[in-house]
Amino acid sequence: MQPLNIDRLYSGGLIANYYCSASCKHCLYGSSPSWPKEYMTANTAAQLCRTMKTLGCHSVHIGGGEPLLNWQGLRAVLDVLQQEDVTVEYVETNASWYRTEAQARTVLSQLKQLGVSTLLISISPFHNECVPLDKVTKLIRACQAEKVLVFPWQEQFFDELAAKPTDEVHTLKEWEAEYGRGYTQKLRHRFGLTMRGRALLFYESMLPHKPIDELLRESHGCTELAQNGHFHMDLFGHYQPGSCSGLAVAVSDLGFPLDPKQYPIITALYGQGVRGLFEIAIKLGFRAQATYATKCHLCMDLRRYLVQEADLDSIELEPREYYEQVYVGLRS
Ligand code: SF4
Repeated sequence: MQPLNIDRLYSGGLIANYYCSASCKHCLYGSSPSWPKEYMTANTAAQLCRTMKTLGCHSVHIGGGEPLLNWQGLRAVLDVLQQEDVTVEYVETNASWYRTEAQARTVLSQLKQLGVSTLLISISPFHNECVPLDKVTKLIRACQAEKVLVFPWQEQFFDELAAKPTDEVHTLKEWEAEYGRGYTQKLRHRFGLTMRGRALLFYESMLPHKPIDELLRESHGCTELAQNGHFHMDLFGHYQPGSCSGLAVAVSDLGFPLDPKQYPIITALYGQGVRGLFEIAIKLGFRAQATYATKCHLCMDLRRYLVQEADLDSIELEPREYYEQVYVGLRS
């Protein structure tokens, strides 16, 4: 197989920060309040914009983490996007920053001046563990007053979440008690979750497992890594291949075939799948569990081992904090 070559980009997002007011159990990026408080700089935003445009993409959304936790940081990124003539499709938010109508309307009016016409507002039982529905409802009202469009993600959960006091947060266990056994399990299909990151770690015990030998036998190249229809780039200048959070390609290496010497892990995964990564990790002392839910579950355990136990210094297993933070909030 040819080396992975990301030479065209379609639609994507900038991860402005990984820290968040929430630590949702479905979070692909393992965001949480305990991430370091680092935010995308104007210089990085400019570098990402230039690379994206070279590869054919002229519009992005902005997400995190919770991007609105650092207003000055977000302003600086939006300023750069305007200067670089990159359109902002929407900014994602969980509404946790809402305090009063006047405060929210001030923020929204400034966002509009900075080229933001739409907010994606998270609505789900996962978010409701950390953000009361009242903040979401009030932010939607403030958007309507300021003529900022709302992209409700996802509207189907709104009435469901209104069944309990809306000024409080509620756990998934409470919703399971309210709506019946199996509610949490069904959520992953209803939400359309990508089963990687914290979502995978949360759900793996509810999924059927396969013996590791079977997973290795079935292994074939992960073509997911070449998907570029919905990409993400982060504040550290990483391009995240596929939706495989915790894997990274330096943005400066996009547009060319990846050098296997520089990218042995991604090359192995792209060429041979999880078996290729297993062979690398075994040489460094990895001991597998007997079973795993999916190939991505095995991949996550292999990468966690390489970062946390083998202490492998790799430009591909980034950000390193991910391998700690992705476990936050799973037991509550
Ligand atoms: S096995 Fe790893 S590289 Fe392959 S799709 Fe899953 S997370 Fe991505």
